[in-house]
Amino acid sequence: MQQVMIIEDDPAIREELKLLLKNEGYRPLPVEDFTDIAGQAAQWGPDLILLDIGLPGRDGFSLCAGLRRSVSVPIIFVTSRDSSLDEIQALSLGGDDYITKPYNVPVLLARIKAALRRNGNSSEAEVLETRGLRLHLTRGMVSAGTKSVLLTRNELQILACLMGRPGDIVPRAELMETLWDNQIYIDDNTLSVNMTRLRGKLEELGLPDLIKTRRGMGYQL
Ligand code: CA
Repeated sequence: MQQVMIIEDDPAIREELKLLLKNEGYRPLPVEDFTDIAGQAAQWGPDLILLDIGLPGRDGFSLCAGLRRSVSVPIIFVTSRDSSLDEIQALSLGGDDYITKPYNVPVLLARIKAALRRNGNSSEAEVLETRGLRLHLTRGMVSAGTKSVLLTRNELQILACLMGRPGDIVPRAELMETLWDNQIYIDDNTLSVNMTRLRGKLEELGLPDLIKTRRGMGYQL
């Protein structure tokens, strides 16, 4: 049974999410003690995390960055805020998707399912190797030489797609299709945000220009 961690301080919403997930066949893992959330995530080993932004003590943004140091499962922000600035911030801090409250239940469930499917698909082969890079699919990590960095699910999928076809120009539309379920609308900007973040991580590995942009055509490794 797949486990979904719920990080939401509003007891009514938390209870609602819990029931919703249970009815859908997931095991809900609601957080009730907000002091060491990253520690609980590492201990519980969820398959996906639903994360509120307005939380006691620490906001969801900084928490997401903290969670990313210990887990690589999909993180979906569920929040009442709805500005595009928040969306970009959420994605650039390591979130995989973003849903605003009041949420539409079928949409929320479809996004959870899509995120879990993307996550599951990536574990077919364990390690991809291209151009000095080793992509550890099941660990959500990429390494070059002795350095390694953790990737979000989206970054992992983008890189896996490019590494699977070294030298080929992969169109943006194809990358978006790989990333998101066809029924879910996602804008071009989100892909750019993910790409920028991925390049930043490759730069940490000493490979700043590994992914080339081919203007009007797509990306190339
Ligand atoms: Ca809240």
